[in-house]
Amino acid sequence: MHDLVAKQRTYFQTQQTKDIAFRRKQLDTLKQLLNDNEELLYEAIYSDFKKSKFDTYTSELSLLYQDIDDAKKHIYKWSRKQKVKTDLINFPGTSFVQPEPLGVALVIGAWNYPYQLSLAPVIAAMAAGNTIVLKPSELPARTSAVMAQLINSTFSSEYFHVVEGGVPETTELLNQKFDKIFFTGSTKVGKIVYKAAAENLTPVTLEMGGKSPAFISEDCNVKMSVKRLVWAKFLNAGQTCIAPDYVMVDKKVKDQFLTSLVDEISSQQFAFENDNYVQIINNDHVERLQGLMEDANIYYGGTVSKTDRYIEPTVLRDVTFEDAVMQEEIFGPILPVIEYDTLDEAIHTVAQLPKPLSCYVFTNKRSEREAVLKKLSFGGGAVNDAVMHITNSRLPFGGVGDSGIGAYHGEAGFKAFSHYKGILKKPTWFELPIKYFPHTAGRFKLIKWISRFQ
Ligand code: NAD
Repeated sequence: MHDLVAKQRTYFQTQQTKDIAFRRKQLDTLKQLLNDNEELLYEAIYSDFKKSKFDTYTSELSLLYQDIDDAKKHIYKWSRKQKVKTDLINFPGTSFVQPEPLGVALVIGAWNYPYQLSLAPVIAAMAAGNTIVLKPSELPARTSAVMAQLINSTFSSEYFHVVEGGVPETTELLNQKFDKIFFTGSTKVGKIVYKAAAENLTPVTLEMGGKSPAFISEDCNVKMSVKRLVWAKFLNAGQTCIAPDYVMVDKKVKDQFLTSLVDEISSQQFAFENDNYVQIINNDHVERLQGLMEDANIYYGGTVSKTDRYIEPTVLRDVTFEDAVMQEEIFGPILPVIEYDTLDEAIHTVAQLPKPLSCYVFTNKRSEREAVLKKLSFGGGAVNDAVMHITNSRLPFGGVGDSGIGAYHGEAGFKAFSHYKGILKKPTWFELPIKYFPHTAGRFKLIKWISRFQ
């Protein structure tokens, strides 16, 4: 690991990665590599947790292709220096902000969207001109192996290399000095990464999780809200960092909501054979999720098959914040429903919890929408929809508080892997004498006067 990082640092210092034509070429190479090997990528992810071609393309590969095209299109704009105003005291100077790549970047991926979560940060790091070490999650083993095989046989290790492994390998990587660490995963491991990064004063982006609420108001379009909510919750069998974790519903529409929820779950027909449902990633998670349902009031679903690593889309009713299911991020196909009397009360309750990665509000009332958006702190979200905000690369994507530090996607990703140098440029034909000795009363007065025009 030490040699790999040293080799990448030496390569970075050759300045080659700073060339924009070089960066565009690497982005093209990556796109071509994914494109040429789509079948292999589909096979690997299907063998890991039965994720279908359709879902892999729509929720992973298409987003990566879009990211690459977007980065290539905007790279000149994002990389150029930007002029800013210069203050009077520096007359006749000019000032500009110049982006530069941070250097050698470490990207640590999570398992639930293994291609997208590993490679979207890589695309941002490439566009910004860094060298990259990628450590994908070890849980989808075939997916990790395929990424390593394809990438390591295409890119030189001094520029971009995949290191496979779990805790020991990641720990060893974290002992190296990187110029940037980009981590996606749990809040618990995010803290370990942050501590390790602090040892080397390495800047981090931490993309973590949390319990993302969805508010269903009396004033929403129940049918459309439920349709979107159900899709967002059970996509990837609920193993989505921005899936609605639980629902807070106005008690006046609770019964209508629950009936509609069951109809919609039935009509979306989540099943492996319908290519719209996946396995739970491993047996530990099946058991963990089963435990969360143990003493709960199951309104719909609840079937578990350990041999198939299958959990049926499940709805829990009459849930309270004291229940086991409300003590941790669910990260599976279980949807607790909690009723509220007033939206203000519901907002107040949620505001006491750690800041979530996402929040969704289903309402047609402006005052309700504004109340949720203004009173709660969360990473990002949607009004009358869920999850889909991730598809707009113009929206920075990231958490706040327990759910993350920093953001990416589009220009935000480029910024995450860049340092912005502030430069003052002065000609030599003129100098204001007032900053120099002697510090007379007249000069002091003049300085105070000039300061008013900064
Ligand atoms: P995780 O934290 O267990 O693992 C993430 C990565 O850290 C993996 O590559 C793993 O190998 C490594 N790792 C695990 N334990 C480690 C340790 N002790 N020391 C060093 N490295 C270690 O997370 P996960 O189970 O892969 O993913 C699920 C979590 O990730 C959920 O909380 C989810 O919300 C979050 N997530 C967030 C986003 C986002 O974009 N914000 C996206 C997907 C998942």
